[in-house]
Amino acid sequence: MPNETEYSPVPPWQRSDYCGTLRAADAGREVALWGWVASRRDHGGLVFIDLRDREGLVQLVFNPERDPVSHKVAEAVRAEYYLAAKGRAARRSDATINPELPTGEIEVMVSEAVILNPSQPVPFPLAGNAPVAEELRLKYRYLDLRRAEMQQNLRRRHQALRGTRAFLDANGFVEIETPILFRATPEGARDYLVPSRVNPGRFYALPQSPQLLKQILMTGGFDRYYQIARCFRDEDLRANRQPEFSQIDIEMTGPRPDDVMSIAEGMMASIYEYALGMKIEPPFLRISYEEAMERFGSDKPDLRFGLEMKNLTAAFAQTAFKVFADAIARGEAIYAIALPGAYQLSRRELDEMAETLRSTHALGLAWVKLIDGGWQGPIAKFVSDEERSRVNATAEASLGDTLLFIAGPRAKVRSVMGDLRLQLGVRFDLREANTLRFLWVNDFPLFEYSEEEQRLIAVHHPFTAPHPEDLPLLASDPLKVRALAYDMVLNGQEMGGGSIRIHSAEMQLRMFELLGIPREEAVSKFGFLLDALKYGAPPHGGIAFGVDRLAMMVCGTDSLRDVMAFPKTQKAVDPMSGAPSEIDERQLRELSIKVIS
Ligand code: ASP
Repeated sequence: MPNETEYSPVPPWQRSDYCGTLRAADAGREVALWGWVASRRDHGGLVFIDLRDREGLVQLVFNPERDPVSHKVAEAVRAEYYLAAKGRAARRSDATINPELPTGEIEVMVSEAVILNPSQPVPFPLAGNAPVAEELRLKYRYLDLRRAEMQQNLRRRHQALRGTRAFLDANGFVEIETPILFRATPEGARDYLVPSRVNPGRFYALPQSPQLLKQILMTGGFDRYYQIARCFRDEDLRANRQPEFSQIDIEMTGPRPDDVMSIAEGMMASIYEYALGMKIEPPFLRISYEEAMERFGSDKPDLRFGLEMKNLTAAFAQTAFKVFADAIARGEAIYAIALPGAYQLSRRELDEMAETLRSTHALGLAWVKLIDGGWQGPIAKFVSDEERSRVNATAEASLGDTLLFIAGPRAKVRSVMGDLRLQLGVRFDLREANTLRFLWVNDFPLFEYSEEEQRLIAVHHPFTAPHPEDLPLLASDPLKVRALAYDMVLNGQEMGGGSIRIHSAEMQLRMFELLGIPREEAVSKFGFLLDALKYGAPPHGGIAFGVDRLAMMVCGTDSLRDVMAFPKTQKAVDPMSGAPSEIDERQLRELSIKVIS
């Protein structure tokens, strides 16, 4: 640091160009640059510095004969010093062109250079792909963010959001902010609470999503709303979960599910266009939840490969194989996957799979191989010729294939086999590369039964409208009622989900009743929504997308933390700032709070 009177808060000259944008055509121009020293090579005479800014890096040449003063500066600088440099851009000689660098045809002959800020030695290299402990990256996030990969990721994310706003704006959606200090909303997770100083003993809850507020905005007459909304859920963090995250939150008046889906498709196309210049082609495939579970054993099927499951319960109806016959007698089901002959599982792998299924799901795995003249494998001898051909035909299996069977309670078998399908996809590298397999899964069930809570719970959320065709089942067989709900899925990941909402207060109360929420509780928690619905609330529906997940897809990374500027660790800690931190006594007292542990 120069002495106090020399301290200058602004650079000595304005920047003419970003380092990373210089090209051969700039040769001959005088340029003025700012940037970080990415590397420095001292050839005992000439000093070369790669100067980096957000657009990339360019080579600076310091020649002691041309300018001894700046050469002295170049000798003094170290990695990550922040430098201002002026000089003439010049074409590099053919022998020194660097085809790896966008600026590789050019260099800058420095005539003046000033150190604007030195840097301590950095705790990890900012170039290259050497693995760096994530804790360290997060502690020195400002250094990590300088890395080319993080620069690219956050700018792609920005482009994706631009694409979102451009499309929604062009389609009449109004961006409206909703409060962060709100009250508990039931999205199924724990709330983050904020004590209210002026209302001792009372707390705000940070929104898990703006669900109720966006519905109220429809009641408030905005017709089409969106927001890039910050949401907070206090859940135990898994690998790819963050306590706060962003959603593209959308609500519209009067849509059919198809209308919401086509808006969302158009928005997705705009996002890929802006972020990657890529064309994706709606409409996406639409399948029901039931079909997704039946064919893929998942409500977010990965369509980058086949290996569809087949239901063989009927094909085995008369079987002499006792395990299957008993299962069928118990009302259970048998599903199979035909693994093509090109992909061979060793005996040991099959045994291991069977063992895992047994120990984690109490389900058995049976298998046969289709050979000339029949089946080979433990169950082959129990099966008649006729039954075998029926099974082969239903399973669409041909010579050389391995048939993998699981029998047991239908719902369980479907989801376990769905997981097995995914494992096989990974094991044999079946997932088509560089492809985007979008689809919609719709007609989810409205309810599921929670063994833990001994009551019905909402599969999407309690504000989701039942499918009108299934209304008669609400009283008699609620688990059979479908919801007007839809999820957008991409390559096996849920990108977003939404529903048509209940817009009648009576129906909403009925829903709470089915969910086992007493009327008084419903009124005390959601009275404001119920009241709003009583004042001519229009029919409405919407959807929300996880921005972070979307950015991961667009950036091709597999960590949420690589697409967020300041994420938290799995312990919900920010190693850079030390949040969450302890609070001093005085502040706690003001908030009427006592910490008991
Ligand atoms: N609010 C819902 C969620 O966060 C999405 C929606 O229904 O629009 O999952």
